[in-house]
Amino acid sequence: MAEETIFSKIIRKEIPADVVYQDDLVTAFRDINPRAPSHLLIIPNKLIPTVNDIEVEDEAAMGRMFTVARKLAAEEGIAEDGYRLIMNCNVHGGQEVYHIHMHLVGGRPLGPLLLN
Ligand code: 5GP
Repeated sequence: MAEETIFSKIIRKEIPADVVYQDDLVTAFRDINPRAPSHLLIIPNKLIPTVNDIEVEDEAAMGRMFTVARKLAAEEGIAEDGYRLIMNCNVHGGQEVYHIHMHLVGGRPLGPLLLN
């Protein structure tokens, strides 16, 4: 059984977060350390530690993450100019929180490929 992270507490509203969207499959909230004017995290409500742990049964939640990303990008007003979706995996990917999350980053030109 994977160990819960702070993101499970955010899903259950046990700790404060700026939650911008939640449904039966996913939750989205503002990153506590935004790297751009818009920096949201979209996560499955189910604890999946890394992309390596995604199962076929998780496909609905994975698909929902993308449709919610599209919706939130429009709401943030960044859809037309563009944005970046990022999922880091394990140490070499720079993953810090072991509950998979899609970063939705935009609101300024992001430069080539990497955030920093
Ligand atoms: P990773 O490096 O794992 O892809 O990204 C983890 C992200 O989660 C970081 O951008 C970090 O700022 C964000 N983060 C970590 N802890 C919290 C928290 O307690 N609340 C919020 N809103 N974001 C967090």
